[in-house]
Amino acid sequence: MIPEPAIQHLKSSVRGQTLCPGDAGYDEARTLPNAMIDRRPTIIARCAGVADVIACVRVAREHDILVSVRGGGHSIAGKAVCDGGLMIDLSAMKGIRVDPVRRTARAQTGVKLGEFDRETQAFGLATTQGVVPTVGMAGLTLGGGWGQLHAKYGLAVDNLIGADVITADARMLTVSANENQDLFWGIRGGSGNFGVVTSIEFRLHEVGPVFGGAVFYPAAQAKEVLRFWREFAAGSPDELVTQGGSFRLPDGTPVFGIAACYCGSVNEGEKVLKPLRTFASPLADALGPMSYLQIQSMFEPFFPPGRRVYTKSNFLKKLTDDAIDTAVQFVAQSPSPYTFAPFIEHWNGAATRVPSTDTAFPHRQYEWNFLAWSMWTEPVEDEKNIRWTRECWEGMKPFLIAGAYGNYVTDEGDAIAREAYGCNYDRLVALKNKYDPTNFFRMNHNIKPSKAAVAEQI
Ligand SMILES: Cc1cc2nc3c(=O)[nH]c(=O)nc-3n(C[C@H](O)[C@H](O)[C@H](O)COP(=O)(O)OP(=O)(O)OC[C@H]3O[C@@H](n4cnc5c(N)ncnc54)[C@H](O)[C@@H]3O)c2cc1C
Repeated sequence: MIPEPAIQHLKSSVRGQTLCPGDAGYDEARTLPNAMIDRRPTIIARCAGVADVIACVRVAREHDILVSVRGGGHSIAGKAVCDGGLMIDLSAMKGIRVDPVRRTARAQTGVKLGEFDRETQAFGLATTQGVVPTVGMAGLTLGGGWGQLHAKYGLAVDNLIGADVITADARMLTVSANENQDLFWGIRGGSGNFGVVTSIEFRLHEVGPVFGGAVFYPAAQAKEVLRFWREFAAGSPDELVTQGGSFRLPDGTPVFGIAACYCGSVNEGEKVLKPLRTFASPLADALGPMSYLQIQSMFEPFFPPGRRVYTKSNFLKKLTDDAIDTAVQFVAQSPSPYTFAPFIEHWNGAATRVPSTDTAFPHRQYEWNFLAWSMWTEPVEDEKNIRWTRECWEGMKPFLIAGAYGNYVTDEGDAIAREAYGCNYDRLVALKNKYDPTNFFRMNHNIKPSKAAVAEQI
């Protein structure tokens, strides 16, 4: 718990709203979209700007207060909110400025993907962000950032020009290819381990309209669809991103669906995607020309806030016949109608051509990312759904690498978090020793400073 004088110190230091238990808006502010997470910070600081973030870090340091950082609040692990400490809530920091001439955008880190896309699309521009508009731009980007444009333009991290970071000693550092290059490397995949990022500048590209949507096959045809998709994806141009798996349509029909986005010319996209819609008879075909904003909001209805969420995810070594046969055994078997599992993302093109050590995000060499993304509504169904998700993942384990995309990892201990940083872990530890030797920022998939660095601080 935080002693009363420290709470008062925080309240008097912050221009934005502060919320404590019992205050109107407190419960709303601490509630994450994943209903499995139920934590109660002693105080929430809804920062109005950079000065508030600096004040929070300064006061939290002085009084030795546990800190968590909330952007869009969508982290599967729920690390945005802490029990008993200070939640630095960035959700009110919504500034975005697009420079259509330089094709850049600078955004504050309370911005959500839908808000970011809307501002950039006003100029016919976009950059890689994820596929659900309510997700936070910062949390997604700092962990990697996979989406409809990754094959053409790289991951979100690959489009970073610079950022402002408030470090554990409450300084603001500007990071870019020319300034504080080591930290610039680290935040591109090292997530919130090195400080609170208050704004990010992105490179933008001309985007839209696109040819995309989804095609749905009967769940019983999953094996045939997966085999065809594997061959089809092998020839994917950089303009095309596909993802697919087992889920249920809103009317309850179990399907194996493939979503696609072709960001080149609409006519070319129609030609490229024709085989995916004609190799067998789909139950429904919702592929067609659409605006980029339309495709970016396509998944939103499937992810309403308040569902209970548990995920397991790792990259596949290869999508072999055996991996397909195993995955098919789990198709349409989830105990919940809201689950996406087994589900697979195709990682291709520009994002996979960046060397694994160029940014802190390491997973560049795998073509397929496996996910079991379970969602349900009732606490009494937790055990059943978690058990099934783990069974699905255990079944697939022989075909998976140990490493996972950190943004999809649940809170299951240090070893799994460590695997998320892959080959870059030691370099990230060295960076943590330099910028956060006391592990002030630890509500994340934590990179622990080495013992020597901690001892030096005592
Ligand atoms: C429905 C859904 C769809 C998703 N789709 C995609 C997708 O298409 N592509 C993809 O790549 N990922 C996707 N993700 C994963 C997503 O990228 C992560 O969950 C990400 O952490 C969410 O960021 P956030 O800001 O919303 O979350 P938060 O919970 O607010 O933040 C997550 C963590 O990031 C850190 N953090 C956030 N903001 C800052 C900051 N400004 N400074 C320092 N640290 C910070 C903190 O450690 C925090 O705990 C999806 C997740 C969900 C739930």
